[in-house]
Amino acid sequence: MEKKILIIYTGGTIGMTEEFPGGPLIPFDFYNIVQHLPELQRFDLKIDVAAFPNPIDSSDMQPEIWQNLAEIIVQSYDDYFGFVILHGTDTMAYTASALSFMLQGIKKPIIFTGSQLPIGKIRTDGKENLITAIEIAASEFQQKPIIQEIAICFGSKLLRGNRTYKHSAEGFDAFESPNYFPLAEIGVHLQFHHGLLLRNDNPFQPQLKLNTNIGWLKIFPGINPNSLNNFKSNHRYDGLILETYGNGNIPQLPWLIQGLNEIHDSGTIILNISQCTQGSVNQNLYKNAKELEDSGILSGWDLTAEAAVTKLMHVLGNHSDQKTRSIQLQENLAGEMTIKRDLH
Ligand code: ASP
Repeated sequence: MEKKILIIYTGGTIGMTEEFPGGPLIPFDFYNIVQHLPELQRFDLKIDVAAFPNPIDSSDMQPEIWQNLAEIIVQSYDDYFGFVILHGTDTMAYTASALSFMLQGIKKPIIFTGSQLPIGKIRTDGKENLITAIEIAASEFQQKPIIQEIAICFGSKLLRGNRTYKHSAEGFDAFESPNYFPLAEIGVHLQFHHGLLLRNDNPFQPQLKLNTNIGWLKIFPGINPNSLNNFKSNHRYDGLILETYGNGNIPQLPWLIQGLNEIHDSGTIILNISQCTQGSVNQNLYKNAKELEDSGILSGWDLTAEAAVTKLMHVLGNHSDQKTRSIQLQENLAGEMTIKRDLH
């Protein structure tokens, strides 16, 4: 039987054209991509396309659109061997992270790609990225997909989606996964690192609810008490991302610790992530983090910011009991984090 791949086109630079000669780039329809990619005909695959009627710059991406995307995948899950999602690079890591939590127990490849230069430009990276993403989505071993998770295929690497962030606005290797090795190297050969690939024995059980009542506080030298007002009880968030220094440290300012305690005690779950892209939060390492641990603020370990915020939305959206929420946030749900409890 012919293998079937579904391409879902959401927008992004890959399909963009100039609004007028020399003008800003705007998203264009999928025909613009096909026109520049006669190679699509050469695959020994049946390729279908589901294109957004109004493709977007991924800066316009919203959680409702993640839900639409996930629904498209759920509805066509049994009909396709794999999926390729064409997406703008700006928020690709957020969407890939969100889908990794929403599509629990996935057994098929969901490969995100896009480009830094539009497909119509002579030096575009879009052609190679899209062709490689399709090849990866169709790769099999013993008739099963090699990739059974959400991944980003960009430049010379295939990376786990919820471990990835966009680190370059201009380079062709735009994404990095600082705390997890690439799933595959893209060169003359596609070299998969089989030992690193996600395998999930649980059944495919999508959980599409999201709670977006979430705040974000970044610690900086000179931070003042006003920064906390936004998160206090008259405007309560269900979740708060606390972006701290190094291994999860904050300055020892009494009003800050007290304010965070107040926010926590009012029912806001606080997740501590590091401003460093590499390494892990460990709230037991320094005194400047220990108080957070003692206050019940949760460690985000080595989560990327993108994975942290989407995991929080996912967990808060699907569970209402605070204890269950905390337990879920401390668990590795989709290969997104490494828990190092024994680190001292
Ligand atoms: N602004 C574009 C987007 O994210 C950038 C890109 O696709 O590379 O849609």
